[in-house]
Order: sequence, then C-alpha cells, then structure tokens
Amino acid sequence: MIDFRSDTVTRPCSKMRHAMSTAEVGDDVYGDDPTVNELERWAAEHHGMEAALFCSSGTQANLLALMTHCQRGDEYLCGQQAHNYKFEAGGAAVLGSIQPQPIQNEIDGTLCFEKLKAAIKPDDSHFAKTTLLSIENTINGKVLPLSYMKKAREFTLQHNLKLHLDGARIYNAITALNINIKEITQNIDSISICLSKGLGAPIGSLLLGNKEFIHSARRWRKMLGGGMRQAGILAAAAKIALTENVAKLAEDHENATYLAAKLSKIDGIEVKLEHVETNMVFAKFSDRFNIEKIAKDLKQMNILISPGSPLRLVTHLDIDKNDIDIFVLELKKSLVRYPSIN
Ligand SMILES: *Cc1c(COP(=O)(O)O)cnc(C)c1O
Repeated sequence: MIDFRSDTVTRPCSKMRHAMSTAEVGDDVYGDDPTVNELERWAAEHHGMEAALFCSSGTQANLLALMTHCQRGDEYLCGQQAHNYKFEAGGAAVLGSIQPQPIQNEIDGTLCFEKLKAAIKPDDSHFAKTTLLSIENTINGKVLPLSYMKKAREFTLQHNLKLHLDGARIYNAITALNINIKEITQNIDSISICLSKGLGAPIGSLLLGNKEFIHSARRWRKMLGGGMRQAGILAAAAKIALTENVAKLAEDHENATYLAAKLSKIDGIEVKLEHVETNMVFAKFSDRFNIEKIAKDLKQMNILISPGSPLRLVTHLDIDKNDIDIFVLELKKSLVRYPSIN
C-alpha cells in the first residue's frame, strides 16, 4: 500500500522492533521503568526543558497540558483550526471543565495578536478566566516562524498567560526553519510532540515543561487512564524516532514539493506550490471530478487517499519518489476513467 492519508501510518522499522524486544522494563507507574525514565531524562535535556512525560498520544499530551495550566472555569485561547480545539473530541471542555476561546487562524496559520488581545476576558465574575494561549506548529503543514514564536512569548508575558505549543509536528517545523529545537522551546511553557507521525514510532507523544508542571500532569495522566506499566517497550522505539528519524524529515519535505509540482501540471488540479512548506500537499480538484470514486479506484491499485476538498496528501518515511511517480500515473488514469461527477 502507498498510503498518503497521514504520516501516522508509518510503521516501526526493524531497528525499532529490535530495540522494543530487548528493552529493559519495569512498572512505570511505580517509576520503575528504566527505559521510560531514560527517555524522559534525555528528552528534557535534549529539548532544553526541565522535565518530560511519556504519553500515549498527542491528544492525551495536549489534554494534560490544558488541564495542568487551567483550572475548572478557566479558558484557553487557540485557533479555530487548532487540533486541541477541533479534533480532540472536546476533551478540554468535557474532562477539564475548561472553555476554549477559538480565534480565526490567519492564512499563514498564525493567530493575530490584536484579535487575541480583544478576546482576553476582564477580571470580572461574568467571565471565564483567560489563563492560556495554545498555538500549533506546524499547522496544516505550515510553519510558524521563530519571530512569531518570540512575539507569542512577549504577548503571553505581557498579559500574564501561559503558553502551550501543540508541537505534534514541531520537528517538521524546525527542519523547514533549519534551527535547533531549543530556539523554539525557550519561548514556551509547555510543548507536546508526536513521536508516532513523521518520526515513525508506533505509539507515543512527549509532554515537556517545568518540573512542577510535569509533576501535576503525571497525576492527570494517571486519572485519565494513561498510567502505562512496562511502557519501556514503547519508549525504546520513541528514543530511536528522536535520534534517527529527525534527519529524514527533510526528505519527506522534498518529496512533498516533488509531488506538488507533478500534481500542479495536471489539468483540473490546483496546487499552491508556495504553500508546501513541510510534508503536506493540498490539492484542489475541479468540481467535474468525483474524488470519492477516484479514491475507491486508487485503492484497487493499492494507493490510499482520504477524499476531501482540498485533498490532503502527506509524505512520510514509507513513501519515496518512486511511490509518488506510481501515484501520479495511476491518478491520471483514474481521472480519465472518472472524468465527471456522474
Ligand atoms: C496528530 C495531532 C495531534 C494528536 O495526536 P494523536 O497522537 O493522534 O492523538 C495533536 N495535534 C496535532 C497538531 C496533530 O497533528
């Protein structure tokens, strides 16, 4: 299968599987798993943060961050497109009694500071208490520049807010920006990082922050059923994701650009090449094509896409240039077979 649906579909490599099978383990809820402990210690140091927590998913890491920064009745500012507003089943509201205050994202994925400022509630018993700004980098494949991150830090200090970064794909951002991860983390209070997307681990995310923050996030993690026992098996793969696979992201970005260029040459498909900044390509198909039928057709050829308008295609470890050539060839044939909506 050539799978363009997401970078979450990456499978653990043989090196990961070997590390998993030989990992030293213990009961992590007792703090006894040496592989988890080593990953958390190493990750904290490597990211320039005081402490780290190994979590089951990005959704869990984001929820822990929101529940740790905010009390019941607080609110967080975020983007209308933010994953932790739109795609996490309303967890902050349901489980944290925390109110989201979404703001329309600008075209480049940023949030306008004037609009954010206008959304901060006065200290008055009518209102929820605004305590946190949550931003996302990358967002829909777009990179927030370092200058924006610095402004977000200034903004939150000025308004006495905490700053959380949903950095599910932060390594794609630093690859595109060609900077060190610490240049990002020095501007924030907490960050969540997915290891199970482009970095190729089978399961797991990291949450990083100061010691006190991680101490209380650990309690929430237990409450939410995220206390994992011999989790070293997963942490072993996670460490390899961070040490071996970060350098490979540049290739995913090159492949996305390659794919976008090819698609843009097809009559009836529109791709904004300048919007391809990392590993995602958004392709707008002319209304005359039936994208649902095309997706079914491609599946027969062992190619998977998530039909949508625009169509989102994601490059990752398990897709190379040859796969892209095959996809474009099969897509062209499919467009001929299904030239109209009927
Ligand atoms: C995927 C993703 C998450 C959630 O990660 P899961 O491991 O799928 O729960 C959070 N934020 C962003 C921006 C993501 O892309």
